[in-house]
Amino acid sequence: MKKHLAIYGKGGIGKSSTASNVAAAMGEKGIKVMLIGCDPKSDSSITLLGGRRIPTIMDTLRKKGKIEESEVVFEGFNGVVCAEVGGPEPGVGCAGRGIIVAVQALQKVSRAMKASDVIIYDVPGDIVCGGFAVPITKGMVREAYIITSGEYMPLYAANNICRGLKTLNTPLSGVICNEREAEREREIVERFASALGVPMLAYIPRDKVVQECERAGKSVIEGSPRSAMADIYRRLAMRMLTEKDKKVPEALEDEDLRKLTQ
Ligand code: ADP
Ligand code: SF4
Ligand code: MG
Repeated sequence: MKKHLAIYGKGGIGKSSTASNVAAAMGEKGIKVMLIGCDPKSDSSITLLGGRRIPTIMDTLRKKGKIEESEVVFEGFNGVVCAEVGGPEPGVGCAGRGIIVAVQALQKVSRAMKASDVIIYDVPGDIVCGGFAVPITKGMVREAYIITSGEYMPLYAANNICRGLKTLNTPLSGVICNEREAEREREIVERFASALGVPMLAYIPRDKVVQECERAGKSVIEGSPRSAMADIYRRLAMRMLTEKDKKVPEALEDEDLRKLTQ
């Protein structure tokens, strides 16, 4: 099994916490997982590495002109292999271009990448320029997942990501709701997913255990393995591994999206 997927969503919506927990849950099952953080924040894998920030590929390339696997790829909790693309030079570089350069450099040197059963790209979705679509356009990613809450802005970003997926003829495998305690949240996100023609794969409640574990530099799977939240992430991981209902999404008209949240 080789699964190359991207998790998209608005900044701060919960991509990295979800991606790292899902990766840890897959690792627990003996699956070889690699998590590639494509957000200039470069904190995707921090909770898999005891709170440690790893050198980013872009920083290393800027300093040395090349990378070696041992400099930018690190094994974290449950054997999850982690790498961070890193950010462009502020005010000058293009983050999207950075993703192309970094992932191509990684592909050349990384044995772990070749050996992985699942590669998860954690990609911001605030700006849906060609740059952030790179993992898709370069054929690195074969399916996408979108995280949103029931609030208008994350849904707006999610809908825009769907427009990008449609243009690139890339399937969406499902929508994940990360609760923000918006009114009628579950219903709104379920209706959004159903309008796109894909399942809502999980409803992740807002729970302080996520941030408590994050402060301890851990995923929930590591820091609170017997919690209800850990089981929610485990179930989501299994659904992601078995989901078959992917579909190139048809984005909603802006007016219909607005009506959904009213
Ligand atoms: P993103 O990667 O999309 O920018 P993060 O995963 O970093 O977002 O999440 C932003 C913040 O929200 C983090 O501090 C994270 O711990 C917190 N968070 C995410 N999901 C939950 C949740 N279900 N319950 C509580 N806090 C959460
Ligand atoms: Fe690059 Fe997109 Fe940023 Fe433009 S908006 S600089 S293409 S990442
Ligand atoms: Mg993140």
